[in-house]
Amino acid sequence: MSRPNASNSSAVSEELRPTAAAAKAREPMNVLIVGVGGQGVIMVSKALASLAQSKGFEVKQSEVHGMAKRGGTVFSHVRFGPQVWSPTIPKGEADILVALEWAEGLRWLAYLKPDSGIFICDTKRIVPPFACLNRRPGAPLRYSRETPAEVREHVAQAYAIDATRMAEELGNERAANVVLIGALSTALDFPAEDWEKSLAQFVPKKTIAVNLDAFRLGRSWIAEARTRVIEAEAPATRIPVPAESPYSVRLEITQEWCKSCDICVKLCPERCLRLNAERIVELAQPDKCTGCRLCELLCPDFAIRVHLDRVAARGAPA
Ligand code: SF4
Ligand code: SF4
Repeated sequence: MSRPNASNSSAVSEELRPTAAAAKAREPMNVLIVGVGGQGVIMVSKALASLAQSKGFEVKQSEVHGMAKRGGTVFSHVRFGPQVWSPTIPKGEADILVALEWAEGLRWLAYLKPDSGIFICDTKRIVPPFACLNRRPGAPLRYSRETPAEVREHVAQAYAIDATRMAEELGNERAANVVLIGALSTALDFPAEDWEKSLAQFVPKKTIAVNLDAFRLGRSWIAEARTRVIEAEAPATRIPVPAESPYSVRLEITQEWCKSCDICVKLCPERCLRLNAERIVELAQPDKCTGCRLCELLCPDFAIRVHLDRVAARGAPA
């Protein structure tokens, strides 16, 4: 399904901004938000639903987040308009797809309207354990290999944003979902200050400032993308870790949260974890760690996070 105008996809053009057009036609606006557990999918949908409701729209929202705490798929349908009959968005009917994880975004692309859908996606990769079929550390993963350039061939407008890294640079990686809300806000007709009021209701009070920064960063990123020439958007600049590229695994262990339960030590397939003299988990054999993320998913206290850091391929830009 190749689109002849795909080369214009770097800009959110005024005529394609869907809220006004949809409202005029009395059609509901359909926004699908997807990701994996712990990324804040539900918060994005609540902020949007609350804002739409405050503007007098009828809003229907449905979500699935059964495996949220264990890295499972989470998705939320938000529909709003003068009248909305069903809470779920049929395939091919989403005006906007917001994805907090790259492969999840690709999995849901079929839900976008083929001729006008807007795809906003974090390039963050959360590789599920079953993608580590080869137990060699650093081995290629069975993970989506599509590049943003390839995705643009199938989508009216596609934005691949390194939102997690942007949020990290602001000092709070968890604000990545709000960077995406900032991007989303440019495709809807609600004023920025109303978005900010809505956001402030749904983030912890002590993180309001950083989340507002993240929101503004997402908006400004899109504004810059509108002016960017498509040829300048080389795929390698947007996908932090191409599927075949080498990567390094980094375990972030929050010692204060480790309760010495030993679960991760016992269940690590490579037996590379241990409890130290203080009975706090540590990575004893880093060279054996494959980055499978089982320890992260199984720790009941969220004391471990597994990061796959990009390692520049020889001769390729970092
Ligand atoms: S599973 Fe979590 S709490 Fe238990 S030992 Fe491992 S890191 Fe500590
Ligand atoms: S330490 Fe964690 S990420 Fe590394 S191999 Fe063991 S379970 Fe997998």
